[in-house]
Amino acid sequence: MNQSSERSLNFIEQIIEEDIRNNKNESRVHTRFPPEPNGYLHIGHAKSICLNFGLGKKYNGLTNLRFDDTNPTKEEEEYVKSIMNDIRWLGFDWEDRLYYASDYFNHLYEWALKLIRNDKAYVDDQTVEDIRRQRGTPTRPGLESPYRSRSVDENLDLFQRMKNGEFPDGTRVLRAKIDMSSPNMHMRDPVMYRILHASHHRTGDTWCIYPMYDWAHGQSDYLEGITHSICTLEFEIHRPLYDWFLDQLVKEGEYRPRQIEFARLNLSYTVMSKRKLLELVKEGIVDGWNDPRMPTISGLRRRGYTPESIRSFADRVGVAKRDNVIDVALLEYSVREDLNKKSDRRLAVLDPLKVTLTNYPEDREEKLDAINNPEDDSKGKRQIPFSREIYIERNDFMEDPPRKFFRLGPGREVRLKYAYIIKCEEVIKDPATGQVVELKCTYDPETKSGMTRSDKKVKGTLHWVSAKHARDIEVRLYDRLFMQEDPNDVEEGKDFKYSLNPDSLKITTGKAEPALLEARPGDKVQFERTGYFCVDSKYTTSERIVFNRTVPLRDSWAKISNSTHKKK
Ligand code: ATP
Ligand code: MG
Repeated sequence: MNQSSERSLNFIEQIIEEDIRNNKNESRVHTRFPPEPNGYLHIGHAKSICLNFGLGKKYNGLTNLRFDDTNPTKEEEEYVKSIMNDIRWLGFDWEDRLYYASDYFNHLYEWALKLIRNDKAYVDDQTVEDIRRQRGTPTRPGLESPYRSRSVDENLDLFQRMKNGEFPDGTRVLRAKIDMSSPNMHMRDPVMYRILHASHHRTGDTWCIYPMYDWAHGQSDYLEGITHSICTLEFEIHRPLYDWFLDQLVKEGEYRPRQIEFARLNLSYTVMSKRKLLELVKEGIVDGWNDPRMPTISGLRRRGYTPESIRSFADRVGVAKRDNVIDVALLEYSVREDLNKKSDRRLAVLDPLKVTLTNYPEDREEKLDAINNPEDDSKGKRQIPFSREIYIERNDFMEDPPRKFFRLGPGREVRLKYAYIIKCEEVIKDPATGQVVELKCTYDPETKSGMTRSDKKVKGTLHWVSAKHARDIEVRLYDRLFMQEDPNDVEEGKDFKYSLNPDSLKITTGKAEPALLEARPGDKVQFERTGYFCVDSKYTTSERIVFNRTVPLRDSWAKISNSTHKKK
């Protein structure tokens, strides 16, 4: 986040600084994050959270958390809890400013009565379908409802009876009386209230009419004293309606919130719509909202992302005025950068191949010094056991290696990290399958740290674990959930699940150095040469330790175009 102080102001900051200079709203800055509790938060919400809370902090202002809970049929308490948890985890605090749009239902109702009294709203007895049919098109005016010219008294009576539960769902609505020929479709007598005999997660059965989002949102901002109401671009066209509503309620020149729109975050190879994410969860395509392949904050957390990495990603993405797509590789870069500084290095072999050091005494064992984090001296060293039989990574050996393969092959030498240089003398194969099952190697005792030939140069250095001391670990390797850059861009008749990646999760078992057994759920480590890993919080038990790969050490998708035999 330290970059934010160096970069030039984004357009929202420019607006805010100008408002402060003009002493608008006594120079107060008050923002809010307004989620609808109908799903778990995703990385796009994280962008909005960082922006709103970040601006509050930067300008010594305040930021509210407000649940936009106007839709009782899709909202649940579970979502409220997860949203609060995710915001706190990201490092932000709404202090005592937790609000719900449902807290304002009474106020909104009173205001609706005011609009009716001023002949600015009316009860329409038509169905929503009829109303939709009369809306017209952007180039053709809509039709006025036959109920539009009802008397104020009749409207007041009907609206109160709607509220009292006298009418079934869908039989009447309250509409604003604006202009059926406005070029802005949102101004064509939009619906303000609908009848819905549904229980609300907070107000229970108190209400059977519910305000539409467009009627609730701007007024909620107003009631909370929000100065800068930041939202995504699709609401730009709603702004005249929000202004119109406030015009009916607030005197000219008095305080009112200012809406500012910015481009929503889109990520390549990722779907972000809550409806689609819910579909993946409901159909069991992923393992719940916090599946490590999900773009949800809870999924990223389980995958091993840190709050710092998400905040620095949000900062790098910046604030745009036009829609764009951010490469998901930038998100992966941000977590790599953070984990490189923070995570201890460990040795673990994911696809083990046994190596026997024929000249190493059978009963001998030694402890070798290994550096915990070369980026952070304060992390010190640990000792790792070494013995005659070890495991190396199967793909670090090639029977017939090309010239540029700097790892192990018949007659070749490599260094074992923190240990000796070894030479491959013999390759043992399974006679039935021809598969390599073991390598017989010799080691040079003088090549260990502190010995005479310790500075001998070889081209490759491999990670390894001592077979006798190794512990089994379960490893979950993740890849992108979708294979298509824009999963939403599919032919007619196919849906976004069309390009799901069948190999997005690969489960294997590996061998790890003993120190890894101390790792607890949520702990993050770098397995040297293979990637950053995080202990899974769902499946790890006292008997079984499960590691999620957060990211490989390098961007494997970018590497495809290069030689696969490049030195690691
Ligand atoms: P859905 O994805 O189901 O349409 P939503 O994204 O509008 O829902 P909300 O709960 O209404 O979900 O969003 C809360 C806030 O987060 C809103 O202010 C919204 O503008 C912002 N937000 C949502 N998605 C993104 C995104 N991809 N990038 C930036 N901000 C976002
Ligand atoms: Mg929304």
